[in-house]
Amino acid sequence: MKFVDLGKQYQSYRQEIDSAIHEIIKKSQFILGKPVEDLETALSAYVGVKHAIGVGSGTDGLLLALMAMDLRPGEEVITTPFTFIASAEVIALLKAKPVFVDIDPKSFNLDTGEMQDALAARQKAGAKVRGILPVSLYGQCPDMDEINEIASEFGLFVIEDACQSFGARYKNRMSCGLNDIGITSFFPSKPLGAYGDGGMVFTGDPEKADMIRCLRVHGQRARYKHDEIGLNARLDSIQAAIVLAKFAHFDEEIKARQEAASRYSELINQKIPEIQTPAVMPDRTCVYAQYTVRIPKGLRDQVTGFLKQEGIPFAIHYPVPVHLQPAFKGLGLGPGSFPHAEKAAEEVLSLPMHAFITPEEQEIVIDGLEGAIGVA
Ligand SMILES: *Cc1c(COP(=O)(O)O)cnc(C)c1O
Repeated sequence: MKFVDLGKQYQSYRQEIDSAIHEIIKKSQFILGKPVEDLETALSAYVGVKHAIGVGSGTDGLLLALMAMDLRPGEEVITTPFTFIASAEVIALLKAKPVFVDIDPKSFNLDTGEMQDALAARQKAGAKVRGILPVSLYGQCPDMDEINEIASEFGLFVIEDACQSFGARYKNRMSCGLNDIGITSFFPSKPLGAYGDGGMVFTGDPEKADMIRCLRVHGQRARYKHDEIGLNARLDSIQAAIVLAKFAHFDEEIKARQEAASRYSELINQKIPEIQTPAVMPDRTCVYAQYTVRIPKGLRDQVTGFLKQEGIPFAIHYPVPVHLQPAFKGLGLGPGSFPHAEKAAEEVLSLPMHAFITPEEQEIVIDGLEGAIGVA
């Protein structure tokens, strides 16, 4: 069994993917041009946002979005400590400061009450907070209406890290189209994955879109005329063609992921009351980039030990919250700073999840968990 079975997916769409790749090679259209434009057009229509810009990775997209917002050294951006490092890394890379706010332990996403308190405190301290960077963790958006409202109250931008949530709905609107800018990732194991790195930036703002397009090719609008200090952060054309081929099946895949998630939750709720299944808010959908449960502290390590022995794949997203990473020790935030994020890091466990997982495989996983808890 695989944690994410990309081989099964390839076998299912093999002809479409192979011919998409060969088409690019035949035409030698490796850098930008039609293949990237075709994907941008398809995905912007899907999200319902005017502009989509293909970029080198989700991380590149986050960085370009902050650059387009003209984030300056010393300025601050509110984000979550319970995420992949990239969300906070890009803020620090621009010499700005990530200001962490604790999560809501039910959804694992930013707690908006805590956010309001933190903003009031930073304002009082005379800090220059510029924006909020919420992460739609595991494939479910936080309460974006509330976040947008807080942002407009404090005059802030909002950039959604939607690297795990492409295809998710919030009040029937699409993730990536809910804020000033949304960014997703085509890292191979994401719900819509490439065969290498890739990402896409979405915005309804034509000026921001133009700036991001310019920054992704060395700050250039006309050839060898550089208006801005940019970088090379283009989406590779072969990757764009692969993602477009897979996109034809994306809605079916989301449905399969959601069915697999329901099956997991039903079995766990029935058989293993010690394990807490994911909570999806009634006004949104989750695309289950990860199917992540909580196992009480202490018990989790026994469970992972047992699963390892049985050869059942699992992952921990994420074992160390961002504020406790060595790279961020300069912020001086020790253990106890964000109790909900720290507790989540000790309790979460992600189970094998992809569109091609079978009920039989899921039962093996559940039996493994049951066995592990029984032994513990
Ligand atoms: C995967 C991921 C990223 C980074 O995406 P890359 O394409 O790997 O650069 C950023 N944020 C979150 C929450 C992610 O899961």
